[in-house]
Formats: sequence, structure tokens, C-alpha cells
Amino acid sequence: PHGVELLRHPLLNKATAFSEEERDQLGLRGLLPPRVVNLELQVERVLAQLRCKSNDLEKYIFLSALQQRNETLFYKLLIDHLEETMPIIYTPTVGQACLEYGSILRHPRGLWITSNDRGRIASVLRNWPQTNVRVIVVTDGERILGLGDLGAYGMGIPVGKLALYSACAGVHPSECLPITIDVGTENPRFLDDPFYIGLPQKRVRGEAYEALMDEFIAATQEVFPGCLVQFEDFANHNAFTLLEKWRDRICCFNDDIQGTAAVAVAGLIAASKETGKPLTDQTVLFLGAGEAGTGIAGLFVRALVEAGMSEAEARKRCWFVDSKGLLVAGRDTKLPSHKAPYAHEAPQAATLAEAVERIRPTALIGVAGIGPAFTPEILQRMGEYNHRPIIFALSNPTSKAECTPVQAYEATGGRAIYASGSPFAQVEIGGRTFRPGQGNNVYIFPGVGLGVLAANTPTVTDTMFLAAARALAAETTPEDLAQGCVYPKLTRIREVSLKVAQATVVEATRLGLARNDLGATPEDAISALMFQPSYPTLVTD
Ligand code: NAP
Ligand code: MN
Repeated sequence: PHGVELLRHPLLNKATAFSEEERDQLGLRGLLPPRVVNLELQVERVLAQLRCKSNDLEKYIFLSALQQRNETLFYKLLIDHLEETMPIIYTPTVGQACLEYGSILRHPRGLWITSNDRGRIASVLRNWPQTNVRVIVVTDGERILGLGDLGAYGMGIPVGKLALYSACAGVHPSECLPITIDVGTENPRFLDDPFYIGLPQKRVRGEAYEALMDEFIAATQEVFPGCLVQFEDFANHNAFTLLEKWRDRICCFNDDIQGTAAVAVAGLIAASKETGKPLTDQTVLFLGAGEAGTGIAGLFVRALVEAGMSEAEARKRCWFVDSKGLLVAGRDTKLPSHKAPYAHEAPQAATLAEAVERIRPTALIGVAGIGPAFTPEILQRMGEYNHRPIIFALSNPTSKAECTPVQAYEATGGRAIYASGSPFAQVEIGGRTFRPGQGNNVYIFPGVGLGVLAANTPTVTDTMFLAAARALAAETTPEDLAQGCVYPKLTRIREVSLKVAQATVVEATRLGLARNDLGATPEDAISALMFQPSYPTLVTD
């Protein structure tokens, strides 16, 4: 590219940072304001502009536009100011952005593949301008965060997740491809809206859906051989079916099931360190028995089994309340396979409060996406039964959190070990400062993805996620725990992702799945692969 083409190319554009020599030799003279500045000053400038925006949605629009015109600057800003920018490009603001995607979209990003594309999906994938794609995040928009069916508006999620792959784990932006499969939507608000950007039809389901997804997966491997596919925010049934179908055949994982599992189990491991109560002494009650809940339970059971417990015993440490109350044997005529292992012999309980009294769990984990369900009474009970009750309110976005940190600390005299899925500010109670942890899979998926790509594995295993969980828990410091936080500081995320990636590679090697040999201590080799936003010099003197 030359001249104005460079300014339109987000991976090459340096904007006001093009040097005098570059401006002369690349035909840029006069196309830019005269003063040459460096990347650091550009970051300061866009940060000031960002802070001037009157609300978070405006900030989202601003950051999207920046990503569209200058990716180096976008990622430098994200990395240097992650605590400030992540809640914009990811939960909670990305949720609001998805709800209004049709009206805020200025320039489309990612690839939309629709149910009309049967028979030509590979050619649609070839329309993507990059040929070196290594990771795809794909959604069909049916369960966006806890916000329900947002159809084609779900694109904000794969776009945001992939920005985090680059910002948090250094996967090069050109290797990342966000995809939305648009098979329609059941959302009446969109179906009646002439401005809706997706297919205005009810969702294609059943065999036609399965055939479309089969063709899609095959096409990803044909066009981008060996690429990692991350399933994101599919509705419950399709999420489990797709994962079971593909997990042993291609390099893929479901972030809502497996990524969430790893981040929550890491939180439980770190909490055990703080309370002195080993993992094998924990009993977990979940609100929500879907992808997240049963995903977490599955990995927790694996961790207990590795600690020497029988699988049957380990499962009995996991209890669930779903939309029908406490999950117990004999309650349902037919249970889906993800719930069946946890339907224990016990009397029914209609409400979460009743279930808490019956089970007396050491940990309460909210993943139902229904909003404030951990009432002060429930939290007080948890405080009565436990010296240090574990309270994880993981539903996203913020409005769906089961309780706030203040509620958890107030009901338990500051004894709760609290984490949430969306970020909350630190709180002062009784002269103590608490820093609630963000139990969000951003601590896991970028690092696991980086590790899987570095080792070039043919599949992704649950044991890799358990290794990732342990690596994450090991990064939580005594200072973090002293402030009530079971996760490391977000500002350390690149360092943490590197540890998670290393653990993933070591596990892949142990399983014989690492097709790239990165040696006994792969950290240096992985670190060298990580993208750092900086401007290359485009001309010679
Ligand atoms: P899902 O597969 O649809 O599962 C939702 C579960 O909640 C189902 O078991 C459902 O019960 C249950 N439920 C619905 N209404 C209920 C009610 N009134 N009382 C009790 N249970 C109820 O969804 P998911 O993928 O697990 O996600 C759930 C939430 O977790 C979302 O808000 C999502 O944002 C959040 N999440 C957070 C993270 C993170 O990193 N923190 C990661 C993934 C997901 P039935 O089975 O009876 O229908
Ligand atoms: Mn998700």
C-alpha cells in the first residue's frame, strides 16, 4: 500500500506518527496534519478523547472507530489502560452495545454467515481479507451474555472476545476472525424492526441448523486448516451438542462451558488457600444448571478426583437449583445429560433459600442470568454456616449479577469471599478495603488459546482447562487474597495469560498433543510469539 491506502489500512496506519521520511517516500506528504508525534503521545490523546465521552456506549463507539482506523494504537491503548477500557469493549458495556448494535454500527467488523449461505460457506470465508487466520470466535447470537436472543446483534461478542485475545494474550489481530452465524432470531423486538440488521425470520432449527453448522465447521478447516474455533454464547442445547460433536475432531472449545469452568475452579482453589479449607471439603450449590453451572461442576469434579476422591463422591459435592428448584433424583421424567449426574437422592426444595438451608454449602455460585437472586437472607445464612462463605455472582452483565459485593460483605460482616462476572469497584466497609475479584473467563480463554496455537494441538482437552485453572490460581498473591480478591490484578493479565498458556502447552505435551515442540520450559518461546503493538519503520534512510 501507498499514500492514502496506508491511512485506510488499520494494521499499517500510523496516522500522525508517520515520520517525515515516511511522509516523503510513501506519498503521505500533506495528507496528515504537520506535527509528527509518537505512539505514546497518541495514546495520551485518544485516552483524553475517550474520557470526554458522555457515556459508556459513546466510549464503545469511539473505541470501535479507533480499532477500525488504527489497530496498533487501539491495542496500545487497551493494554496500557486495560482496567479502564475492558469494561467498555467487554462486559458490561458490550452487552448494551449488542442490544443496540444496529444503530451504533458504523463499519461492519467480522463475518456474517447466514442460513442462506448453505453450499457456499467456504467461499464466504475466503472473502475475509486475511489468509493467516488462526482463531475464530463464533456465536449464533441466541444467548448473548444473560441478555437472551440478540440474533445478528450478537456480533459484538466475538469482536470483543478477539480484541481480548490480542490485548490480553498477544494473538496477532490479523490472525483473529469474529463470526456470527445468522439463522434468524426469536426476539420480537427485532423481527418487527425495519432497522434490524439480521435476517428478519424465526430461527432455523433442527436438521437444517445442524447441516449449516456442519458445513461451517468443515469450511473453517478447509479455508484455515487447523484453526482454533471458540464457540461463544450459543443457547444451551446447541452449545452442548456442538461441543460434543466437535471436541475430539477439531481444535475447538466452548468458552461458556469450559472457560467459565476454569475461571471458577481457579477461584475455588484460591479461596481454599485463603480459608484453609481444602477443595475436598467444599460443597458447592449452583444457581443455574446450564452451560456455565454444569461446566464448572464438571471441572470441579475432575479436580476432586485428581485429589483422590471417587467420582461419585465428588459429584455429590455439587448441587443445583435450576428453573424448577433443587435438582434431585426423580424430579424430572427425563433429564438432559449435563444435569443427570447431579440429580442426587434428596427431598425436593422449591426455592434457593430452602436449598441453602438443606445443603448448607460452603460455596454459592450464581450462573442463572436472572439477576439479583442472592438475597440478604440467603447471604446471611451462608455466613451462619461458614466462617468464610464463598459467594460467586458470575452472571453477566452487571444487571444480572446475583448480588453486589456490598450486599455480600454486609450480610456476612465482611467474611464473604466474593467474585463477580462483571467488574465492580472496590468497596470500603468498616474501615476495610475490599477488592472484589472479576471471575471472568478473560483470565482463561486468551491464555488457553495462545497455548493451543503455540503448541499447535489438534484438539483442546478438559485437562488443559484444569491446568489453566491451577496456573491462574497460582498467580493470585497473598496481597490479592488479603483484599478479598481470588484473582490476580487485571493489570497483570498479559503475564497471567502467559502462565496460563504455558500450563496449556505443558499439558498438551504430556498428552502427546503438542505438534510444535516448545521444549521443557516453553515460556520464552510462547512469550516471543506475543504481539506487542508498536509501529514498524516503513522506509529506509
Ligand atoms: P444457560 O445454559 O442458558 O443456563 C441457564 C440456567 O439458569 C439453566 O439451568 C436455567 O434453568 C437456569 N435458570 C433460568 N431461570 C432460572 C430461575 N428463575 N431460577 C433458577 N434457575 C434458573 O446459560 P449459561 O451459559 O449457563 O449462562 C448463564 C449466565 O452465566 C449468563 O448470565 C452468563 O452471562 C453467565 N456467564 C458468566 C461467565 C463468566 O465468565 N463470569 C461465563 C459464562 C456465562 P433450566 O435448566 O431449568 O432451564
Ligand atoms: Mn460467553
